[in-house]
Amino acid sequence: MAGIYIHIPFCKQACHYCDFHFSTSMKKKTAMVEALEKELILRKNEINEPIETIYFGGGTPSVLSVAEINLLIAAVYHHFDVAENPEITLEANPDDLDKEKIIALAQTLVNRLSIGIQSFFEEDLKLMNRAHNAQEAINCLETATQYFSNISIDLIYGIQHMSPEHWKENIATALSFNIPHISSYALTVEPKTALAKFIEKGIIEDVDDALAQQHFNILTETLEKNNFVHYELSNFGKEGFFSKNNTAYWLGKKYLGIGPSAHSFDGNNRSWNINNNSKYIQIITENKLPSEVENLSVTDRYNEAVMTGLRTVWGVSLKKITEDFGENYVAYLLKQAKKYLEKELLIITDEASVKTLKATQKGKFLTDGIASDLFIIDEI
Ligand code: SF4
Repeated sequence: MAGIYIHIPFCKQACHYCDFHFSTSMKKKTAMVEALEKELILRKNEINEPIETIYFGGGTPSVLSVAEINLLIAAVYHHFDVAENPEITLEANPDDLDKEKIIALAQTLVNRLSIGIQSFFEEDLKLMNRAHNAQEAINCLETATQYFSNISIDLIYGIQHMSPEHWKENIATALSFNIPHISSYALTVEPKTALAKFIEKGIIEDVDDALAQQHFNILTETLEKNNFVHYELSNFGKEGFFSKNNTAYWLGKKYLGIGPSAHSFDGNNRSWNINNNSKYIQIITENKLPSEVENLSVTDRYNEAVMTGLRTVWGVSLKKITEDFGENYVAYLLKQAKKYLEKELLIITDEASVKTLKATQKGKFLTDGIASDLFIIDEI
């Protein structure tokens, strides 16, 4: 089983914290959709397995018209072997989701919405320069929940000056809509973003790790109490509603990434498309592929297995590391993990005689830092 990711590189305005690839000019939207369709055709033989998930990510896929979304889904069905009942997700922003659009989307094959709410508070949305306001966030969820049962929303925590009470209120508002999935990320300061510049100039205070950790603890505790499974560091889902697209990615399944800046994985190698809309369209128009391939070394694959394993509820199976990489990799992993096991930031569980390295509740927030300490820098 495999997945197809389609990158829609347009946004109405640039959020201050974002370093994804997108353009705020819609001039090339039609040409882009044509190029995306063409890339699907050019790469139709790259995946010979049934497609289980189709994911429109961005950027802001909800800037596409329903006709454009239908055209791309039809192209996938036409050129690939699509499994029965695939998960088809559309990332959407609240300002695009008026009642008319939601009803029209419900009539397409899209069966999952991932909505970029980020916060229900006006001041947070302004600070982040989101295109929607708090009322639009509420309105779109009120309507979307009437037409879609599989909805995820994004929420951002660790925003400067966000009090724990304010964060609890955001979570409570999200829960009041009875949605089955929440993705939540700490506000991070990426280089060259507007946020980084504002902090540099002293216009906005820097983010505070201690505050983010406090918010993270509130988040995990509240959502777990409300029957969400914390199945990946930033993802919480009710049983049966984990994102199939993201899970496949974490479990190392193949996926085809279509569109500028999209990444692909064929089981061994990773490749990525050029992140420039005009060049992408031009190269595709010439029937060429705008991609570069990276051959993953054994060490790269080990590092990825450790990072993704530790971030998920499934952990890092020591047996699988032995099978895939050999005894010396497990020995290295355990040597590096020792101090974190002693501090109870990591734990080795032993369910059905399968030993698995996992982050503890105390260690979860620090997962990325811990994982990088378990990485191999030079070949062993
Ligand atoms: S809408 Fe999403 S992709 Fe676009 S600028 Fe904002 S965070 Fe980035």
